[in-house]
Amino acid sequence: MPATEKPLWWEIRRAHNRKPASYRCPLCGELLPALSEHMLMFPEGDHSRRRHAHTECVLEARRRGRLPTRSEWQRTQPPRRSAASRWLRRLAGR
Ligand SMILES: [Zn+2]
Repeated sequence: MPATEKPLWWEIRRAHNRKPASYRCPLCGELLPALSEHMLMFPEGDHSRRRHAHTECVLEARRRGRLPTRSEWQRTQPPRRSAASRWLRRLAGR
């Protein structure tokens, strides 16, 4: 996945797939039979771009601090709005 398209956060949930298809896990690149136990990953909650991944790959990536959930990502964000409004106030005062 190109770095520029790296999602900031992921919605992750258990897959309930009954279709006999197979997918490629984006985390390890190996094939993933849809009927096996696995997880769905939605980049920034976008359900049209969902990816199927091995449960153990998702758990491993989470242990390494990758695949943050939305609330985990938000906790890492500086309070951008207040910084911008300070900057605007400084501009206006000139
Ligand atoms: Zn995998």
